[in-house]
Amino acid sequence: MNIDHFGKQKKIALIAHDHRKKDLIEWVLENKELLSGHFLCGTGTTAGLISEATGLPVTPYKSGPLGGDQQIGALIAEGKVNFMIFFWDPLSSQPHDPDVKALLRIAVLYDIPVAMNQSTADYLLTSPLMHEEHDRHIMTVRDIPREHN
Ligand code: PGA
Repeated sequence: MNIDHFGKQKKIALIAHDHRKKDLIEWVLENKELLSGHFLCGTGTTAGLISEATGLPVTPYKSGPLGGDQQIGALIAEGKVNFMIFFWDPLSSQPHDPDVKALLRIAVLYDIPVAMNQSTADYLLTSPLMHEEHDRHIMTVRDIPREHN
């Protein structure tokens, strides 16, 4: 197990599938003040819409179906994203479902906080840990049972 340190300022990825974008934008607007103290990024369309609606700087990566989810996954693996709000759509399948699964796997592996619906996002943002430093615990290959090596 490796321990890695989160600073007080989180590097937050914001992603929403098309039917969930409106909800995420409203949630960001409601929490604008707190979120403005953190670094924000997101998949292309989501990032653009949030920036436009809130005025917050949100670094855009590629659109999800064009590889944006994989880019965010790579940033998590590199420690450049350590917090994720991902409103995925449970009622439709996506052309990039394999990328979504891969992103969620990497988020679990690197032990970053992830909210996939509004209630969880509310709980995360009101956690005292939002204002503190935090250690995360990253599994190493040695922690993985032998048959999976
Ligand atoms: P988008 O991508 O923000 O570019 O729409 C989100 C997604 O579909 O994963």
